[in-house]
Amino acid sequence: MDVTLDESPTSRRSIPELREQFIKIKDKIVKGEYTIVIETGKSKVWKIFGKVENSGSVISDVVACKNCNSAFKFTNSTSNLVKHKCYKNLKNRSEDESKIQVDHNT
Ligand SMILES: [Zn+2]
Repeated sequence: MDVTLDESPTSRRSIPELREQFIKIKDKIVKGEYTIVIETGKSKVWKIFGKVENSGSVISDVVACKNCNSAFKFTNSTSNLVKHKCYKNLKNRSEDESKIQVDHNT
């Protein structure tokens, strides 16, 4: 009996194996096996994210956070990257800086 994996409902969800792959990438970044390359894109996300390089060659479709080394899938869209906590923190921080002067906590 053949099992068609494509029809499995899990294929539509986030695949645990894929998640594990990104955890491994993060691990290698932490160990220094992979390096995060500074990306000079127009988007603000590149202040936080960079492409991941493995001994000189860039790993396609992967970006990593320079702040916490978390790896993410990147498919020419930054929409999933802007949801990342470090990016949100960066945004909040710059917003907080203007708030701080007004904020009076006794
Ligand atoms: Zn991060």
